Amino acid sequence: MHLSNEELKRYSRHLLLSEVGIDGQEKLKSASILVVGIGGLGSPLVMYLAASGIGKLGLVDFDTVDVTNLQRQIVHGTSDIGRPKNQSAFERLKEINPEIKIELHNQALTSENALQIIENYDIVADGTDNFQTRYLVNDTCVLLGKPNVYGSVYRFEGQASVFGVEGGPCYRCLYPNPPEPDSVPSCDQAGVLGVLPGTIGMIQATEVIKLILDKGNPLIGRLLLYNALDMRFNEIKLKPNPNCPVCGEHRTITELIDYEEFCGVSKKQGAKQNSLGEVDVTKLSNLLKMDEDFFLLDVREPFEHDLSNIPQAVLIPLGQVKDNLSKIPKDKKIIVMCHHGGRSKKAADFLTASGFQDVYNLIGGIDQYAREIDETLERY
Ligand SMILES: [Zn+2]
Repeated sequence: MHLSNEELKRYSRHLLLSEVGIDGQEKLKSASILVVGIGGLGSPLVMYLAASGIGKLGLVDFDTVDVTNLQRQIVHGTSDIGRPKNQSAFERLKEINPEIKIELHNQALTSENALQIIENYDIVADGTDNFQTRYLVNDTCVLLGKPNVYGSVYRFEGQASVFGVEGGPCYRCLYPNPPEPDSVPSCDQAGVLGVLPGTIGMIQATEVIKLILDKGNPLIGRLLLYNALDMRFNEIKLKPNPNCPVCGEHRTITELIDYEEFCGVSKKQGAKQNSLGEVDVTKLSNLLKMDEDFFLLDVREPFEHDLSNIPQAVLIPLGQVKDNLSKIPKDKKIIVMCHHGGRSKKAADFLTASGFQDVYNLIGGIDQYAREIDETLERY
């Protein structure tokens, strides 16, 4: 893996560093990195890894670019809206550095394909935003003995670490079990400061490069915590957990499992139908048409209500429901709605627990209503 004259010029600021030099740059050129998820974390990850001269970059994503992504997913541009994220990222990365090889995996990472895909790379950088994929990436990396450079973001806070390295812990050592579904909202429910995944993604990119160069002090056995509002970094020491089901002394997980079920995703759907009443958008539309007497409660934020709303709905944001119970009639059918159905489920559960008898959650929220019933509504 010798460097061409073109590459010697391109990477000259690396070559000036004795910790990198020609040897290090050749290591980077020989390296292959898989980035799972080309979103908020994946954007800075792939851009900096490409610019740094990583020889082979693999991109896993099956999603398309949406206007709401652009606030933080900076590898994509406005003209990419509607295009596959992998394609959009591919073109941007080729523009940043035409010297590198880019492999696109235009599919979700699953128990069926994860071993096959990941085994062809030296290191995995995890830019996923859901627990199913995060546990899948972790277990696959442990089984294959590949370092897993982890990052995650939530509102104003982020975490990063390096898992799956001999002698160090894995993600399951830290979190043996996933949180209850719905207990941790995703970025589209909780919001995220746009620059935050930039900071965490670049920490991941830094760790990837340090691992390849074998220089410095990697985040192995260290969980880095970042709070953007306080502008403070903290660190927790992590040890391998001897009881870890995938990397501990008595392993119970020796092959990939069903991560949807493990994370309660498929179970959740079954349980939801039993424990809480639900209506779909067609049913809601019929009730509205028939002028049925019911109370439609919108628990989104005021700015979302301004963007698009169903006129009959009464707005009480989720955080204010508790203090406004007197505004909700006890003797009527109540249908709770939000953007996608997550916050409204919480509110519906809360109302049921507070003694309201006839409460229903609108599946899919106003987004599904806009897609299936009223296309004039603004989608966001
Ligand atoms: Zn472990």
